[in-house]
Amino acid sequence: MLKIENLHATVAGKPILNGLTLTIPTGEIHAIMGPNGAGKSTLAYVLGGRPGYEVTEGSVTFDGQDLFALEPHERAAAGMFLGFQYPVEIPGVSYLQFLREALNSQRRSKGEKDLTGGEFIRLSKDKAALLGMDAEMLKRPVNVGFSGGEKKRAEMVQLGIMDPKVAILDETDSGLDIDALKAVGHGINSIMRDPKKSVLLITHYQRLLDYVTPDRVHVLSRGQIVRSGGPELAHELEREGYAEAAA
Ligand code: ADP
Ligand code: MG
Ligand code: MG
Repeated sequence: MLKIENLHATVAGKPILNGLTLTIPTGEIHAIMGPNGAGKSTLAYVLGGRPGYEVTEGSVTFDGQDLFALEPHERAAAGMFLGFQYPVEIPGVSYLQFLREALNSQRRSKGEKDLTGGEFIRLSKDKAALLGMDAEMLKRPVNVGFSGGEKKRAEMVQLGIMDPKVAILDETDSGLDIDALKAVGHGINSIMRDPKKSVLLITHYQRLLDYVTPDRVHVLSRGQIVRSGGPELAHELEREGYAEAAA
């Protein structure tokens, strides 16, 4: 599904990714863990095509296509979802309006018709219910005044509505209390644990992995994958720290 080979990238002329190689097969959830500054968010931004993140070497294949030949909106239309650590606030636009526009613009680029208002409301209510979330929250402006937990619950509804082939979630667990963490774990499992989908879960701490069991865990250090293992590797990192594990 996602094949990253010898990826090198710079930010502001500074090399951050230094030959990162990683394959996430269809149907698998992989976690990337690593110390602050390792390049985890940079990887997510590079995959999303954020301006200022320059790929200097290597390749990424997404669902058989050259990812870097696709514009960011084409990556989304092809089924890539990115969740960032610091979600944007959009005053004046309700979460429902935002989700409806995101979904319909994706449908249009696939040659599909827009959902009607009624169809969209039904879909968003279904997804919110599946996640045990109060759909009323989605009438508020996007993320404005949302708690950390509310932002992430809303993002899970977004994930359910967009129904991507691959989700790349950057520190989706940071700052969450246990209830929100469980809700996010439940969201990822119910939406993305699927033989046709894949997930790249970027996390600094092991705790989210108590709720979403990854198939593989990778350690990112100085812009490279330095170790890979099963779910037990996350526990080892939690116990012994990154310096030990990367040695
Ligand atoms: P992580 O998510 O693993 O904590 P990041 O990908 O955010 O790491 O950052 C990796 C490195 O890139 C850090 O040394 C950081 O200071 C640097 N970096 C990130 N963004 C920029 C930027 N816009 N300009 C300069 N350096 C940056
Ligand atoms: Mg960081
Ligand atoms: Mg980061």
